[in-house]
Amino acid sequence: MSAQFRTIAFGMVVAALLCMAACSRQPSSANDGANTAASPQAASIPAAPAAETTGGFDGARSYKHVAQLVAIGPHPAGSDGIHRAQTYILEQLKSYGCPVEEQDFHASTPAGNVAMKNIIVKIPSANPNMILYATHYDTKRIDNFVGADDGGSSTGVLLELARLLCARKNAETIWLAFFDGEEAFELQWADPDNTYGSRELAASLALSGNLRHVKAMILTDMVGPYNPVFRRESNSTPWLTDMIWSTAARLGYGKVFVNDSAPVEDDHIPFLNRDVPATDLIDLDVPYWHTTRDTLDKIDPRSLAITGHVLIASLPEIEKKIR
Ligand SMILES: [Zn+2]
Repeated sequence: MSAQFRTIAFGMVVAALLCMAACSRQPSSANDGANTAASPQAASIPAAPAAETTGGFDGARSYKHVAQLVAIGPHPAGSDGIHRAQTYILEQLKSYGCPVEEQDFHASTPAGNVAMKNIIVKIPSANPNMILYATHYDTKRIDNFVGADDGGSSTGVLLELARLLCARKNAETIWLAFFDGEEAFELQWADPDNTYGSRELAASLALSGNLRHVKAMILTDMVGPYNPVFRRESNSTPWLTDMIWSTAARLGYGKVFVNDSAPVEDDHIPFLNRDVPATDLIDLDVPYWHTTRDTLDKIDPRSLAITGHVLIASLPEIEKKIR
């Protein structure tokens, strides 16, 4: 996504303050999680809250997905690594009994014509009204960049969300999209060199006439840091942002989902551009953004669990709104 807001003075001040705060952040104690006790790596896995306390969303499971994606190594669009990431995501989704479709397409990029693949879980319902959750799973094309937070964290959240949602009957159609090609091929973000996967899905839904059924698109991206701060993304649809942020406040996460706002260009923009209500959960104010320091030690399972808890807990209200 684009960090254009960093270029305005206010954003720079905020970023500097957050960076100062981030420098003093320390991962919390790693040994109070009973659910990790049996693992030989337990000492190195930070604790996650018990799933019963976060709406059934298991932060430890979500974190393990992030660790697996990081272990794959760099996986930018069109690379060998991304095929391994695709295999992992597909295997996990199928193990949950999720109905999965692969959307293969070719994108014209600064690196030439590149084969890409969106992975889409389509949970059917008699009600055609659809809620679309989304993440990107590609990593930025930087040498040795593994994208634990940028690409990994939100993909770990959506995999765990898929496990929960595929196992139950939902009041409406729910899709979970794992986008390829969110990252720009060039170092700098410039249109149209970004959001290849989300633009492809939005365009194909428009072409098939099904875009009108998408009543809410909820994007997650960079949701894994210690002490995350999610600002209201200012391009997003206010009612949808309000529902998610008010759910977070009700659950006691008001210090995570804060009330100030900032613009971020991300995979929700192609849907907003086609008049689909959409919002974005993202903490872009991290000092390791688009550097090789975006590694697994930056990821707090609690942050994944908070994100998942808010997504699960806000669903009934969104369902009521779109019914
Ligand atoms: Zn990125």
